[in-house]
Amino acid sequence: MTANSTYSFFNDVGSFVDKAARFTKHPKGLIEQIKQCNSIYHVTFPLRLQKGKFKVIEGYRVQHSHHKSPVKGGIRYSSGVNEDEVKALAALMSYKCALVNVPFGGAKGGVRVEPSEYTVDQLERITRRFTSELIKRNFIGPAVDVPAPDYGTGPREMAWIADTYMTFNSEQVNALGCVTGKPLTQHGIRGRKEATGRGVFFGLREAVDSYEDMQKLGLHPGLGDKTVIIQGLGNVGYYTGINLQKQGSTIIGIAEYNGGIYNEDGLDIEEVHQHRMDTGSILDFPGAKTIKNGQDLLEYACDILVPAALENQITTKNATKIQAKIIGEAANGPITADAEKILLKRGVFIIPDLYLNAGGVTVSYFEWLKNISRVSFGKINKKYNELNNQLMVDAIEDASDTNLPYKQRMQLIKGAGEYELVDSGLEGVMVGAYHEINEIRKKDNVDDLRTAAFINSINKIAVSYLELGVFP
Ligand code: NAD
Repeated sequence: MTANSTYSFFNDVGSFVDKAARFTKHPKGLIEQIKQCNSIYHVTFPLRLQKGKFKVIEGYRVQHSHHKSPVKGGIRYSSGVNEDEVKALAALMSYKCALVNVPFGGAKGGVRVEPSEYTVDQLERITRRFTSELIKRNFIGPAVDVPAPDYGTGPREMAWIADTYMTFNSEQVNALGCVTGKPLTQHGIRGRKEATGRGVFFGLREAVDSYEDMQKLGLHPGLGDKTVIIQGLGNVGYYTGINLQKQGSTIIGIAEYNGGIYNEDGLDIEEVHQHRMDTGSILDFPGAKTIKNGQDLLEYACDILVPAALENQITTKNATKIQAKIIGEAANGPITADAEKILLKRGVFIIPDLYLNAGGVTVSYFEWLKNISRVSFGKINKKYNELNNQLMVDAIEDASDTNLPYKQRMQLIKGAGEYELVDSGLEGVMVGAYHEINEIRKKDNVDDLRTAAFINSINKIAVSYLELGVFP
């Protein structure tokens, strides 16, 4: 949905930075440097189709900020990929990493293909060739630039990228850290697949736990009584929905590119997902009303709207019609800068993308650490911790002359494995970052969370530049 033909996602991100910069004292030139994309790589290569036909495939990799190395960001496969979009997404990655204190610069990649129009074999050839092009120009490597999944890509594509990189760099001991979001069998990490959606859940939970903020919206704190509409039932939308549902929220609507479904009594995410697997679409889900235009669902009444598909979904065209009280930006850039002004005036509480979907890069960071240290979390200390816990529980039982129930005893003794460590690490990061932003919101008297989040990120990136001596 494009409100007007001059829409630039990258300029929108820049305008958010400008708004936040007014609350800082950094020199104008430094803010300009922070906003720029440091390196932009545009590549084309041929794909051989059947019967001697060829197709030109276009790809991009943009490294937004080299204030930290390596740079990090997903690779998107979509027919809508273009330079402006990849630049904007790369910039958001820099701000996101700074916000959650993950020591990477920001980057993003995109290949302009509609995955459903290609066979698996063709997608593999596209992925491997794109990776080779990145290798040629030093745009990939564990110390240089580390891609991850994004819209239209997943563990399968990441495995092809890793394998291609390994083929060219078999002597590099850290080679597996060249990409994250890999399948577990290819040295991925437990919890990465669901990390972004789970992070969205942690972020929403923190936001709605604030009595003060919820009171202003006429809502009670907590997720339990909230109605939710989700746009996009892909990786991020699915795991966000699953987690919200487990916490007691009612998912009343799901929008997809080809329409939506609505049921005020609630939709079971797992059953909708299964229905999509069986029929190829979420539409005609038993018991739900089918909505012809999925976009219309964004305007339905609900407590929380979660856009989890693409950018530029809430624009000046529909911002006045949005009835949700809270919008959780699981996707990158779903609300345009102009639409945000309208929504804020109307009192809508927006939890911004650079914070809310940062769970993906957080767990990618854990995967990268696992790959470069070549050991999985918990492997060395799990048994040791269990033995210590056992000694402690024995001592407590002896001193109190009681025996704990077996289940409780085992829970106390159990050491943390990789999943438990990753998930608690993710929760800690998301909760900590929310409160950092919230403090800035209060201290600087900023009226929205996005500006507070950008102030936080800009300050951290500025310090990096100043400490590097780039701006003595
Ligand atoms: P995905 O490809 O797994 O899923 C996207 C879903 O959105 C698909 O089901 C698709 O059919 C649907 N969709 C497409 N156009 C739509 C439309 N107009 N209306 C409704 N639904 C539509 O992608 P994803 O990985 O879940 O990414 C979604 C968003 O989250 C993107 O903005 C991405 O940049 C962002 N994000 C993803 C990750 C990650 O780890 N995958 C991390 C951070 C941010």
